Amino acid sequence: MTEKNPTICIIDDNPEDREVFRRYLLQDTRYRYQFYEEETGEDGLTLCRKIQPDCILLDYKLPDIDGLEFLANLADNSGSIPFAVIMLAGLGDESIALQAMKSGAQDYLVKDEMTPGNLFRAIHNAIERTTMRRTLEKHQQDLEQKNQEIQAFAYALAHDLRAPLRAITGFSQIVEEDYKNVLDADGRHYVENIVHACTQMDRLIEDLLNYTRIEHRAIRYKPVALGYMISQIVEGLTERINQTQAVILIAEDLPMVYGDSTLINQIFINLLENALVYRKPDRQIELSLTWMQEDDFVVVRLADNGIGIDPKHYEKIFSLFQRLHSDDLYPGTGIGLAIVKKATDLLGGQVWVESTLGIGSTFFVKLPVYIL
Ligand code: ADP
Repeated sequence: MTEKNPTICIIDDNPEDREVFRRYLLQDTRYRYQFYEEETGEDGLTLCRKIQPDCILLDYKLPDIDGLEFLANLADNSGSIPFAVIMLAGLGDESIALQAMKSGAQDYLVKDEMTPGNLFRAIHNAIERTTMRRTLEKHQQDLEQKNQEIQAFAYALAHDLRAPLRAITGFSQIVEEDYKNVLDADGRHYVENIVHACTQMDRLIEDLLNYTRIEHRAIRYKPVALGYMISQIVEGLTERINQTQAVILIAEDLPMVYGDSTLINQIFINLLENALVYRKPDRQIELSLTWMQEDDFVVVRLADNGIGIDPKHYEKIFSLFQRLHSDDLYPGTGIGLAIVKKATDLLGGQVWVESTLGIGSTFFVKLPVYIL
């Protein structure tokens, strides 16, 4: 496609009509068109798919299929028409023309009333729209590629930062342990700070790697028993649960879902960890994990009695690095819920939150159910 020589497909079984359109368009001073022609709907579809024209002039009445069937065949997976189509209707066929517009045609012209002027206008609009759509698609592709490059870069960066960080952590721990008698109080305090910062950075790198890994690895769908998975996660959190004396109630009949066990594991680890972290200090933690079925999906609800979230932050918390608290109050990296969001999206599910400040939050995770 070029702006200068737009491609036009004329799909019409009447050779005289095609000739008229061509003659008209040759008078257009704005563009020099390249014409392609077919007489039947089936051949027209093949042609359009092959040359991806800037505009299609489509006669409603074709020998094999009608214009509406043609449009239906041209639609992409999302049901939209990735071409600018001008439907040519006969006099008195306005209702068909209207239907064509509803089915994704950009414009319609009544053949008997056609003038070079209104044909130019319709075609110029169509070309403009095609150019805009293609530019947008190109930008989207570029953006996606850039995004992937950034993700790969973040992954490589995080990965390569690990080795030097391990060395810094290791040596500062040695200084902290073996030189504590040599150092004065200030010295010991500084080394403690270094060790603490190293732990934070290690967690940040680990979370970043988990986040970028999600994008890189292939998704392996299989049936996943939520009950077993959650019990394993809770077992892994035993130390923290005992420390905080949290009470956790988990529905006994958790169902099977269909998805990737690594991603599902990440979703529930992050949500359960958060539910233990964002607690009210003066209140015993109470968590409950229940579920219900909604059509072909399972909705898991994790309710806590923690600090709660202001509704104005419901969306924001699922974005990367978005935190509502300082590290001193509640340590974290702002990556956990971004992982949860990305994982549920990839699995064709959803995640959202409902909360009351000071009372608690409920996170909802919707995943495809596994049907035996
Ligand atoms: P992190 O916990 O590392 O800060 P997350 O992405 O997991 O990052 O969470 C983002 C923010 O959402 C948190 O900083 C916190 O403010 C808020 N949040 C998450 N879970 C809860 C919860 N269960 N209760 C209250 N606030 C929460």
